[in-house]
Amino acid sequence: MTYNPRKIRLLMALRGAGVTDTRVLAAIERIPRELFVPEAFQDRAWEDTALPIDLGQTISQPLVVGLMTQALELLPRHLVLEVGTGSGYQAAVLSRLCRRVFTIERLKPLLREAEGRFRTLDIGNITTRLGDGTRGWPEQAPFARILVTAAGGPEPPKDLTDQLAIGGVLVIPLGTDHRDQRVVRFRRSEAGLIREDLWPVRFVPLLSDPPQSVCSA
Ligand code: SAM
Repeated sequence: MTYNPRKIRLLMALRGAGVTDTRVLAAIERIPRELFVPEAFQDRAWEDTALPIDLGQTISQPLVVGLMTQALELLPRHLVLEVGTGSGYQAAVLSRLCRRVFTIERLKPLLREAEGRFRTLDIGNITTRLGDGTRGWPEQAPFARILVTAAGGPEPPKDLTDQLAIGGVLVIPLGTDHRDQRVVRFRRSEAGLIREDLWPVRFVPLLSDPPQSVCSA
């Protein structure tokens, strides 16, 4: 790996801001964020900021990626569902920390670009799907971990909580107003869901599509 002072600065900033899990920091270090960022923003790839990608969407801020990944408490054996592939960056980071990532995106051009990046990086443990991620991926459920990278309403989609394994963790930004969103962690026990509000955040909205648009990639 070549020495990149911007990357080192970013990793130190993430650590200072609460990303203390060394496995998460190592995964962020190893995934070349510049590959996921549009040409026009190449010089900002290692800044701690969200950046625009195509179709009005964003690649998340590295701090948010780090904190949400850490909040999942991933183990190497886990199957993880991500809703909102976007650039594919978050899925690539997750792929270094668990057995397999299933990631769903509703916008075909974004998904195809992300798939190209996974091929370029020779990442073999990410499976993609084009469709409405609020319905989850029933054929692959239950999931040990679910991460949603777009902001839902006041409550998480029922299909997602239904597809969470007992003992599983769902991390999702929630809020009815885009100025008032919070990352929320749910743990599923035999008795039900235990909710824990984490920190404020600002994400693009989680949109639901009609059922007929769901298809496997
Ligand atoms: N994880 C992404 C990354 O690393 O670049 C960032 C995700 S971006 C903030 C949110 C993404 O969620 C967008 O690409 C958007 O199209 C997608 N999205 C919104 N609603 C969705 C849904 N119901 N199902 C699947 N994807 C959805």
